[in-house]
Amino acid sequence: MEIGVLALQGSFHEHQSILEKLGAQVVQVRLPHDLDGLDGLIIPGGESTTIGKLAVDFGLLEPLQHFGKEHAIWGTCAGSIFLSKDAHRQQPLLGLMDIQVERNAFGRQVDSFEIDLEIPVLQSVSNKKPIFHSIFIRAPLIEKVGKNVEILAKLPNEKVVAARQGRLLATSFHPELTEDTRFHQYFLEVVQ
Ligand code: GLN
Repeated sequence: MEIGVLALQGSFHEHQSILEKLGAQVVQVRLPHDLDGLDGLIIPGGESTTIGKLAVDFGLLEPLQHFGKEHAIWGTCAGSIFLSKDAHRQQPLLGLMDIQVERNAFGRQVDSFEIDLEIPVLQSVSNKKPIFHSIFIRAPLIEKVGKNVEILAKLPNEKVVAARQGRLLATSFHPELTEDTRFHQYFLEVVQ
C-alpha cells in the first residue's frame, strides 16, 4: 500500500516511521503531483494555520480536497483541524469532514496531557483490550459532529476526541508519538 504523509510542517517523520514499520510504502507529499497513485494520506500534527498557509502556497488545497473525496485521509491534531469544515476562525481548511473543532481547547502548551482512552474500533486490528495511550498537545476538541460522523473516542468528560466519516478520520491526539501501532493499523484498514 502506498500512503502519503503531508510533509509541509509537523510530525510527519513520526507517522512515516510507524507506517514503514507496518510495511506500507510512504511518500512525503509537498506538491500536488506527489498525490498521484497514493491509496491514502495522513495529515500530521503541528500548527494548523501554518499547514494551511503552506498548502495554499504550494497549490495543494484543491488537489487535497479532490483526493479526500475518493481516498482515506487521517488528520491528527492540527491535521484534524485542517480536515474540518469549521475551526471558528479564518484559516485555510479542507472542509472535508463535517466536524466543528475548537482549537487549543485545553489551554496552552503547559496544559498538554496524556490519558488512556477506550477506543472500541481498535478491536478490529488487535485482540488486546482497546485501551490506547493518548497524547494531547495543545489539542483541539471536536465539539460538533454532523449526522454522518461516527464518534470513535471520548474523554471521561464525554468530549469527543476521535471521529470517522466514511474514509476520513480525525483524532485530537497523537498516535504517531507512541510506540503503539494499532491506530495506524486501523487507518490502513480504512484505506483498503
Ligand atoms: N494547537 C495546534 C493548532 O491549533 C495543534 C497542535 C498540535 O497539532 N499538536 O493547530
